[in-house]
Amino acid sequence: MRAARLITYRQPLELANVPDPTPEPGGVVLRVLACGVCRSDWHAWSGSDPDVVLPMTPGHEYCGEVVAVGAGVTRWAVGDRVIAPFILACGRCGDCSAGNQTTCASQVVPGFTCDGAYAEMIAVSHADANLTALPDTLSPEIAASLGCRATTAWQALVGRAMIQPGEWLVVFGGGGVGISTLLLGRALGARVIVVDIDQAKLDYATRLGADAVVNAATCDAPEAVREITGGGAHVGIEALGVEVTTVATMKSLRKLGRMVQIGMPAGDHTQMTLPMDVLYSGQLSVHGTRGMPSWRYPSLLNLIAGGQVDLSPMVTRTISLSQASAELAAFDGPTPPGVAVITDFAN
Ligand SMILES: [Zn+2]
Ligand SMILES: [Zn+2]
Repeated sequence: MRAARLITYRQPLELANVPDPTPEPGGVVLRVLACGVCRSDWHAWSGSDPDVVLPMTPGHEYCGEVVAVGAGVTRWAVGDRVIAPFILACGRCGDCSAGNQTTCASQVVPGFTCDGAYAEMIAVSHADANLTALPDTLSPEIAASLGCRATTAWQALVGRAMIQPGEWLVVFGGGGVGISTLLLGRALGARVIVVDIDQAKLDYATRLGADAVVNAATCDAPEAVREITGGGAHVGIEALGVEVTTVATMKSLRKLGRMVQIGMPAGDHTQMTLPMDVLYSGQLSVHGTRGMPSWRYPSLLNLIAGGQVDLSPMVTRTISLSQASAELAAFDGPTPPGVAVITDFAN
């Protein structure tokens, strides 16, 4: 099969013919229908994710059709179309039993700890515990975001911040996960402010229904957010993983505000200096979050099926496998609005 392989950090992926994967016991092999290009892939590509050992096929935000089934799998058969969360939990440990699959100590993460979905096929382990049926009404390129960005946003809003209708939600970073947070936050009845330094992304957020946007390149963003909200947002989402936006998110909250760190701090950003006086005096709550347990899929799919949220405007570029390298390199600078999804694996 064809796969785009990361051989050397920060270099174009190598398009190679590699052996077709075979399913391990409990696992399946999928023909990949669509795979998003996510900022986390850029962390792997740039060498700032310590889990990645080269060579590696990137790609963790995908959906596909089952083409082979391993021994012991009971829920899935050849021909089923499925969505996979990027964290493949074991389904059996104490954390998994308690519903906390994202903290499973035995988890595997395609594109980081094993080969991912920048390929015609992918082997997916622990299929019964992780996979969800892809609804016929959802196109693969839109469903791909249910592997990472939309689900991460959903977990942050409903599993961590417990956002309530009518609350102010501020999102720092208008990329894929930030826009997912905007769309889902609106669907949950929040009033949403998007902050970025790229006016094109802010205009895009406005078109997608943001109640307000703030350009942090031209003003003091926390001050602007406090002004718009009459004292600060109830919930702040950091969607970049860098110090300046983490600090600004904290400073944008009202008293008793809740912040969720979605952006993955990597490289120089693993250590940050934070305004702990703001946290103390505001009596803030700060949550980390990563991925979504697969049992939350029905709630999100039901919201989409009911028409309360339309994720399709997020996908602004469908690309071929050979174009993925350029999308990864583009994360070095301001990226164009919306996300890129690989749908053509033959070119
Ligand atoms: Zn991702
Ligand atoms: Zn587990």
